[in-house]
Amino acid sequence: MSEINETEEKRVAVMFVGGLDDCKYTIKILDDLGFPCALDIAEKMGPQYANRGYYIVTMPEDNAEKAKKLMEKMIREDLDINSSPENIDDKCPACGAELSVDHTECPDCGLNFG
Ligand SMILES: [Zn+2]
Repeated sequence: MSEINETEEKRVAVMFVGGLDDCKYTIKILDDLGFPCALDIAEKMGPQYANRGYYIVTMPEDNAEKAKKLMEKMIREDLDINSSPENIDDKCPACGAELSVDHTECPDCGLNFG
């Protein structure tokens, strides 16, 4: 794989938009897959992202499609390995915390599911 020449105008694809931790997770996966990628602030994509604390993960557009497919596959496998489906029923609609079946309220944000 060739190195990225920063002086050259390269088209980049946005691989992910979200919080810093999720971006780092995306970067780790892309890194593991051998794709060079970069972390940037989402505000660069437009004013609608300003002041939200979002970040983006970008990489050269050439490999983006391939990388996305591999990344999705890897995330699926990663989730299969790290979660036990019998235990995890759902995610909290408010904060996204993983919930086990016996939770009547979110352990993270306290949302009550009745
Ligand atoms: Zn919650």
